[in-house]
Parts: sequence; C-alpha cells; structure tokens
Amino acid sequence: MAEAFAAVEIIAAKRDRHELSDPQIDWIVDAYTRGVVADEQMSALLMAILLNGMNAREISRWTDAMINSGERMSWNELTIPTVDKHSTGGVGDKITLPLAPLVAACGAAVPQLSGRGLGHTGGTLDKLEAIPGWRAALSNSEMLQVLKDVGAVICAAGAGLAPADKKLYALRDVTATVEAIPLIASSIMSKKIAEGTSALVLDVKTGSGAFMSDPKRAEELARTMVALGTRAGVKTRALVTAMDVPLGLTAGNALEVRESIDVLAGGGPDDVVELTILLAREMLDAAGVRNAKDPAVALKDGSAMDKWRAMISAQGGDPDAPLPIAREKEVITAEKSGTIASMDALKVGVSAWRLGAGRERQGEKVQAGAGIEIHAKPGAKISAGAPLFTLHTDESSRFLRAKEALHGAVTISDDGYVAPRLPLVVTRIDA
Ligand code: URA
Repeated sequence: MAEAFAAVEIIAAKRDRHELSDPQIDWIVDAYTRGVVADEQMSALLMAILLNGMNAREISRWTDAMINSGERMSWNELTIPTVDKHSTGGVGDKITLPLAPLVAACGAAVPQLSGRGLGHTGGTLDKLEAIPGWRAALSNSEMLQVLKDVGAVICAAGAGLAPADKKLYALRDVTATVEAIPLIASSIMSKKIAEGTSALVLDVKTGSGAFMSDPKRAEELARTMVALGTRAGVKTRALVTAMDVPLGLTAGNALEVRESIDVLAGGGPDDVVELTILLAREMLDAAGVRNAKDPAVALKDGSAMDKWRAMISAQGGDPDAPLPIAREKEVITAEKSGTIASMDALKVGVSAWRLGAGRERQGEKVQAGAGIEIHAKPGAKISAGAPLFTLHTDESSRFLRAKEALHGAVTISDDGYVAPRLPLVVTRIDA
C-alpha cells in the first residue's frame, strides 16, 4: 500500500519551522513504529523538533499518536479511584517506594508503572529489585489482581504500552534529543494516559540533579504535561520540587530501600517524609478520596507498612529478607571543620552511578548494594575528619572514579554561611 506521506517532506517542514498537520503527525509516529520510517529520518525530525519546538496542538496530537501505537489499560473493575504519581527523576528520589503503599493505606488504588535508572538518576524498578525475589514484570491480569488484593502495585510497563515511545526513547538517548520539552512531555504522558489512571500527580524535579536544572524550564514542562493530562480526561496536577541537593541520606538501590522502610516505620529523613506526605495528600485529593486517613497518621500507625509488606510479597519479594550489602566500603571525611554550605546533587548522583548503582549501557545489570550514604547535609556543623559520605560498591576499582565525581560536591564555610537552597516545593500547577 502506498504511504500517505514522504518522511523527508515532514522533516523539511519542521526544519523550516512550519507546523506539522494532524495527519502528518499520525502518519510519522505510526510509520516509524512500523519500521517504514528509518532511524536516521526520525533522528533528523527529533532534532528539528528539539531546535524549533512544537505548539500545543502538535504536542497533543503527537502524544495521542504515541498512545494509539499500543494498548490502553483500564481499571474499571476496581471499586476505588485510581491515582498515580510520576517523578522526572533525581538523586536519592526513592519517594515512590513509601508513597504507593501509603496512598493505598489511605484509600486510593495506585497502579504505578515505573522505569529503570537513566544516567545519574536512579530507577524505581532497580531499587525494588534489590529485594530478594521481587518481580518487576507482571502481566496485565497479575497487575489487576495485586491492585484488587493490596491497592498498590509497582511494576514495569509491558511491551504493549506505547511501543512508539520505547523506540523513540532509545533513539533520543543516542541522538542528544532527550531534553526537548515536547518530546519529554509526550513521552511521559503517553505512558501515563495509556496506563489508564484516573488521576495523576507529577513531581517535576529541578536543580543540578534533575533533567531540567532551570526552574523556569521545569515549570514549562510541568504546565505542558498538566495540559496534556487534563485534555485526556486525567485529573492532573504537578509540583515542581527541589533537586539541587540529594533527597534523603542515601543514593543507591538497596540503600534507598532501607531508607524507604525507615519512612514506612515512622522515621526517616525529614525531607523524604515531608515530600512523601505532601505528594500523598495531593494524590488523595486529585483522586477525590474524601475523609481519607491522613498520610502522616498512616506512616505512624503501621498501616502504610502493612501495605508495603503485602505489596512486596504479592510480587514475589520477601519483605523480611536481609537486603544486599556491597562488598567494599570507603569513608570520605571532612577536610576542615565548619558548616556544610552546599552539596551538589548531580555530583553525588554521578558518583553513586560510577560505584555501580546505575548502568553505563542499556540492559546492563546494576549492583544492588552500591551507592552512597550521606552523613551530613547542608546546614549541619561538621568537624575535620568526621565522616561526610560512605561509598559502597562490590568492586574496589570503582572507588577512584567515584571519588573524582565527588570533587567539589561539598563546600564547608568557616562562618556558618549556608548557600541559598531551592524550597522543597518550587511551584504547584493545577489544571
Ligand atoms: N522519562 C520518560 O519517560 N521520558 C522522557 O522523555 C524523560 C523522562
């Protein structure tokens, strides 16, 4: 059958800053998914989109075309409302782990499709796979069963969900076209809309450790995604939150699971607890759950922990099994006494990645025990020689490059100065 368009004409149109028509967008996304449009042609188009942008209509149509490339899930059988959360990724961002069971404990169902680590940012599935026996790959019917039985499920998106995004994402990764707002927004929202959640809270990270280090660009991304969700009938809102300093006191898979369990046990670092409770309240409100148990109470009374244990067991994991510990450890100490003035999230993230917590190439295995423990955060007083970080890895040959990444990650002031920080919530965007 003759094709409706020639790819080269669509590439030239975007190169020359013209708007793409709805039929052009539908065709190119479909033809690329079918293998009719070659990678080199789609690469050129992606770069033209990165350079010349897309208007709201084009972004919305592109997102619909990605959704239509695969299946749409439905949770109609559930008797309680569904709500999901998506984070654009950061260093030490383990919030999904305590958040999903917490929201389930408060009365909404959480069908959470998550991803793996990308570059210096960790991935929820990599973290949960540190738990012995836990399985990320569930069929749609298994996912529904866990949702019915427990109220929360965290698993990998199946091959049938937005297959266009899987191809496009892999191509963007190797053609320096990840950072375009229309492409990020359509990639994230096509998966979330196809996932069938009725409400969605987006946690858009900003600061050195985030994809969007500039808060203005993060806000633009958040607004674009809220508009896409709302148009598709998903009650969507976004918080732009701080990622200038790592979240919590750990970065790395098993280390972050341990910290999440501390939060579910009613303890844990203040910033992780605060953001978890804030996002849980937003999710319950977006889902329309009225008179819900307050998330702060559910963290203290053991009900969120009960949901966590049930969720881990339902996916083959043993919530009581000891978590993996890396074979080697090295402690980095403070060079002088004073006050910690700043800590760069990106440098900590890159160091954890080099220790083996993340992967260099797609498909590589990550080390469950690798990562960084942070002993003191900005504002804390520290004495010369006191521990700042403990580095964990299975291979001691990784320490050198991990320590190089940490050069300049921390500054210590003599006079109590602490560098200005982003507020935990920079902006809130509602439909
Ligand atoms: N996460 C996604 O799923 N897609 C992007 O483009 C960026 C982050």
